[in-house]
Amino acid sequence: MTSTHDIVVDQVQESRVGTTNFDNLIFGKTFTDHMLECTWRDGKWETAHIKPYGPIMVEPSSKVFHYGQAIFEGMKAFKDAQGNVHLFRPEDNWIRFNESAKRLAMPTVPEEIFMDGLKKLVDLDREWVRQGDGVSLYLRPFMIASENGVAAAPSTEYKFMIVMSPARAYYRGDVRVIIASQFSRAADGGVGYAKAAGNYAASFYPNNLALEEGYQQIIWTDAATHEYLEEAGTMNIFVRIGDKLLTSPHNDRILNGVTRRSVIQLAKDHNIDVEERRVSVKEMNEAAANGELKEIFGTGTAAVIVPVLGYKHEDFVHDLPAVDDSYATLFKQKLSDIHYNRVNDEHEWLVKI
Ligand SMILES: *Cc1c(COP(=O)(O)O)cnc(C)c1O
Repeated sequence: MTSTHDIVVDQVQESRVGTTNFDNLIFGKTFTDHMLECTWRDGKWETAHIKPYGPIMVEPSSKVFHYGQAIFEGMKAFKDAQGNVHLFRPEDNWIRFNESAKRLAMPTVPEEIFMDGLKKLVDLDREWVRQGDGVSLYLRPFMIASENGVAAAPSTEYKFMIVMSPARAYYRGDVRVIIASQFSRAADGGVGYAKAAGNYAASFYPNNLALEEGYQQIIWTDAATHEYLEEAGTMNIFVRIGDKLLTSPHNDRILNGVTRRSVIQLAKDHNIDVEERRVSVKEMNEAAANGELKEIFGTGTAAVIVPVLGYKHEDFVHDLPAVDDSYATLFKQKLSDIHYNRVNDEHEWLVKI
């Protein structure tokens, strides 16, 4: 065991990297050799440990199982042609993680644990970050309430952990969506802006109903009126009407995505007219009917940019036409050029490990 910056490292005897088939990965199923674990107890964070990936011991009465105090982040590490490993805007994820923590009455995680722990972990398992377009190491920091006892009150004990999963370029298949007119993902004053595990749990049932109808995802609308677009599944949403790009503003119902923020900046860099404002379903349907609706796409770390090929809203069904100057394609290309350090990183989004 070695110790630096108060992170204790217990390395595996033998890495599994040599026996892993990187051409045949299922997203989120394979994990690297190591993970990070840090416990919050008696009002403070204890020493963080990096140790071999494996099961953790929690009692059945752990509060996370009963009251759902659980949050997470999703981020990626990329390897460039020279073999350097970079993180993409990791500070943004750390800040957002702590915003989620506050909303769920959980302790915030200091930079020395989140950022230094993440960097040390990625560095230790850097062989797991492979080269290739679309290839990455998916990083999953998360926190759970680990106090034993079923009294309905915030936990007095938490575990902050990071696990990492190698990911190849991933194609989701065609995505057609249903515009929500009954179910909601988030409400005013709720936890929609937080990366709370429960937000996902609540979306699975409506999403299953959409799948049964032959649609892959749901475009969430505002809970109060179902008249305005909010998110595309678990991604932020962009709509292109004419040559103008529109995206819903982030608020307490809408997650403030790092990819969304990056796409807005790239649009500005390319002199594309981009507006952060509410977009009504009516406006989108009218644009669809008169041929002005050119693209809809979702943005998020896991799939980066996902074009939506068509949608259904109540009785209105519309397939989007193919466009030869697709913004989705442009942004996907520009983002991967930055991820793999193929262009000048003018906004200083990469952090080298
Ligand atoms: C994580 C997430 C996003 C995308 O955020 P990124 O920072 O771009 O990965 C969008 N919407 C929801 C609901 C999310 O959970």
